[in-house]
Amino acid sequence: MSNNSINWHNLRDNLTLDGRAFINGKRVAAKSSQVFDCISPIDGQKIADIARCGTHDVELAVQAARTAFEDGRWAKKSPKDRKNILINFSRLIRENAETLALMETLDMGKPANYSLNVDVTSAANSLQWYGECIDKVYDEIAPTADNALGLITREAMGVVAAIVPWNYPMIMAAWKIAPALAAGNSVILKPSEKSPLTALKLAEIALEAGIPAGVFNVLPGYGEEVGSPLALHMDIDCVAFTGSTNVGKKIMQYAGQSNLKRAWAELGGKSPFVVFADADVDAAAESCINAIFFNQGESCNAPSRVIIDQSVQDRFIEKALSLMPNFQPANPLINDTTMGAIVDEIQLNNVMHYIQAGKAEGANCVTGGEQVLQETGGYYVTPTIFNHVKNSMKIAREEIFGPVLSVIAFENPQEAINIANDTPYGLAASVWSRDISQAHLAAKALRAGTIHVNCYDEDDITVPFGGYKQSGNGRDKSLHALEKYTELKTTWIKLA
Ligand code: NAD
Repeated sequence: MSNNSINWHNLRDNLTLDGRAFINGKRVAAKSSQVFDCISPIDGQKIADIARCGTHDVELAVQAARTAFEDGRWAKKSPKDRKNILINFSRLIRENAETLALMETLDMGKPANYSLNVDVTSAANSLQWYGECIDKVYDEIAPTADNALGLITREAMGVVAAIVPWNYPMIMAAWKIAPALAAGNSVILKPSEKSPLTALKLAEIALEAGIPAGVFNVLPGYGEEVGSPLALHMDIDCVAFTGSTNVGKKIMQYAGQSNLKRAWAELGGKSPFVVFADADVDAAAESCINAIFFNQGESCNAPSRVIIDQSVQDRFIEKALSLMPNFQPANPLINDTTMGAIVDEIQLNNVMHYIQAGKAEGANCVTGGEQVLQETGGYYVTPTIFNHVKNSMKIAREEIFGPVLSVIAFENPQEAINIANDTPYGLAASVWSRDISQAHLAAKALRAGTIHVNCYDEDDITVPFGGYKQSGNGRDKSLHALEKYTELKTTWIKLA
C-alpha cells in the first residue's frame, strides 16, 4: 500500500490502546491502580488511560530485570542468538509499522506520514543495525611482554534504565535499547508521560520476537515518580537519559547520590547555522527551513540560530519566506500534512511565550507567530521567523523547542564563530561556504558534537550523535554507543 493511500482516520477507528505497564513479560496495571489521561494534541481529546507507575512498580521492574540478567537468559546467549532475535524484533516493528506510526502521531502530533517513514523506519533500522553488529565486534589483546597475556574485554553492565523524551519517542528509545540489548543488558524503558504509547507496544513486539520476559520492561509515568526513583536506584547499573539540560543535570546528581551508576545524558541544543557571504544562499535557506520546521520544530538539533553575513541576509530571508507555504500546520492524520500539532498545551504555551518575548525584545517577526486551528481543540503554531535578532536576546539564548527561527547578522567571519559558540549548548552546527578552507576552519572552530558543511540533518546510524558542553555527554548511535552499555575489563594471564 502506498503511503498516500493509507486512511489514518479509518485505522484510528479500529485501534485499541493499552496504557498498562510492561513488567516481566506481562501487561500490568500500576500497583497503586492509578492512571493518568493520554491527551492527543491533534484535538485535545483523551485517547487512553495510562498506568501511573511509581516506586513500587520500579521495584518490580528492577527485580525482574536483575533476575533476568543474573540467570543469563539473555546476557549469556551467544552474540549470534541475540543478533537473530534483534533482527526479528526489527522485522516485527516493520510489520506493525502502520499501528506504531498511528500511535506516535495520536500521542505527540507529528504527521502520520513522517511517523511511518521516518520514526518507525529509523527505530527498526537501529534494532537491525545493532543486532547485525553484535557478532562482529572483537575484543583486544594488549601488546605486553611475552610472559603474560593482557586481555581487554567488554562485558554487559547489568540493568540499564533508559529515560527518553517525547519528540521522537520511538527513535530515542531505539537508540538506547538497541545497543543496550545487543550488548546483553536488561533494560527498563521509561517513556515520556507525553508519549508512552509506542514504547509499550514495542515491549509486546520484543517479547513476540523472542526477547525473554524480564529483559525488556516499560514503565510509563511522570519523571519525579518513575524517572527519579530509577536514576536513584541502588540496583541499576546505568542510566541513559535523553531530555532537557535541566533534568539531565538532576540525573547526574541522582547517579552521584546513589551508586555512581554510569550516567549518560543527551540534552538540549541551540544549534548555529552559519552562512558566509560566498555560500549558495538559496540552498542554505532551503536546508535550514526544512530542518527547523521539521517535527514542528521539536528537534534537539534543530538549527534554531541562523548566523549570516549581513550582505546576504535579505536574500536568505526572501528565499525562506518563499518556502513558508510548504509548512503550514494541519491535521497530522492527513497524508500531505508537513507540520502537525505541538505536543501539548504546556509546550504550546512555552512556544507562544518565547514568541512574545522575541517581539518584546525588538526582534522583527517576519512570518508566523500565531496560534492557529483553535477550533480543532488541538495545539498548532505557524512557523515563525525572527529577523534582526541579537544573540543576547532570550529567543537566541534559550531552547524554544518549537517552530521558531532566529536570524542574527555578522560583519566578519571571526564574529560569526564567536556568536555561534556563545551558547551553553553544543549539540550540532552547520557552516555554509564555497571556500573549502573557510568551511573547514569554521568546522574546526565550532564547538559541537556534529558539524554539517553545506548541508543539515544528514543522518545515519553509523555515526555518533551527541553534544559538547551542556548538550550532554556520551554518544548515541554507531559502534561508540556500545561503550555506554559495557564495562571495560582487563584480565592478566601469567604465562609460566
Ligand atoms: P524532559 O527533560 O522534560 O523529560 C525527559 C524525560 O525525563 C521524560 O521521560 C520525563 O518524564 C523524565 N523526567 C522528568 N523529570 C525527571 C526527573 N526529575 N528525574 C528523572 N526523569 C525525569 O525533556 P522533554 O521535554 O521530554 O524533551 C525535550 C528535551 O529533550 C529538549 O531539551 C531536547 O533538546 C532534548 N532532546 C535531546 C536529544 C539529544 O539527543 N541530545 C534528543 C531529543 C530531545
